[in-house]
Amino acid sequence: MTLSNLKTKFMTRNDCYTAGRTITPKGIMVHSTVTPGVMAGSWFSRWNKSYRAGEINRQVCVHAFLDDKEIWQYLPWNHRGWHAGGAANNTHIGFEICEPAGHSFRGATMVGYDVKKNEAYFRAAWKNAVDLCVFLCKKYGLTEKDIIGHAEGHRKGIASNHADPDHWFPKHGESMDSFRAAVKIGLKNPKNEDFYVGDIVKIKDAANRYYPNGPQIPSWVKSTNHKITQNRSNGKTVLRGGRKAVLLGKKIHKRTGDESPGIMTWVDKEILELVDVEKEEKGAAPEKLYRVQVGAFGKEENAKALMGRLQKAGFDAYMRYE
Ligand SMILES: [Zn+2]
Repeated sequence: MTLSNLKTKFMTRNDCYTAGRTITPKGIMVHSTVTPGVMAGSWFSRWNKSYRAGEINRQVCVHAFLDDKEIWQYLPWNHRGWHAGGAANNTHIGFEICEPAGHSFRGATMVGYDVKKNEAYFRAAWKNAVDLCVFLCKKYGLTEKDIIGHAEGHRKGIASNHADPDHWFPKHGESMDSFRAAVKIGLKNPKNEDFYVGDIVKIKDAANRYYPNGPQIPSWVKSTNHKITQNRSNGKTVLRGGRKAVLLGKKIHKRTGDESPGIMTWVDKEILELVDVEKEEKGAAPEKLYRVQVGAFGKEENAKALMGRLQKAGFDAYMRYE
């Protein structure tokens, strides 16, 4: 599998990002936007805002949005998101599938949705969603059984009462069950490759040249992360200095995940190592945060009552016993 269309840009202005809480992902929650025609890249400017600073009227953030072309990652995968409206935020990575333009809603029901016209879009977005889930399952040791839709989450009591994506998938003859089945197939077909297009890598400290007898590596190239943008050329493995090489076509900012044009050099795979972006981000940015404590209680019920009031008022409050 490849995730060649995965792009990363963290919503560092969103209060969810600055809350800086991490999770150990135990599952994946599938959402759809219920916002016709707004594609994945457009959500950055909509949601990279602070609720506390009065820039947005919702406290919401999700790990990724995807459409028929791109997957945009907006939070580190192991960052606690605000997508489920329930306990699933503590365990689940959440992503949104963008809905195509042309329909409206009456309650949770799609009105004027043109199935035939949207079939190609749906299939491409579906494939991106399956590929993303395969990627995440491999990364976190999950299986298709760990994937649920938002509506399923509600029925399990770990998410708010939304219908997505069950209001949409059946229009194309699909369901969360058939989605899980597609991920299962994806997990069974691992290509025997050590690096994928889309992987974030860095150059090992010990390396001096891009490949045997190749150019020397400037030190700044080693101090940044890179994204693999090609691992083949015209369908064939590329050799440099007799070694299998991949193309580093993008630079990735260590803290923000921002992409910029890369070194565009084919590099010996042996001198590369995968970067755990989440770990790096935490290590590279020992950002201190001002945390506000509202109260300390001897009785759990009193603490819970205050937390309930804070949550009702729109704060992502949490409780700790120490
Ligand atoms: Zn949802």
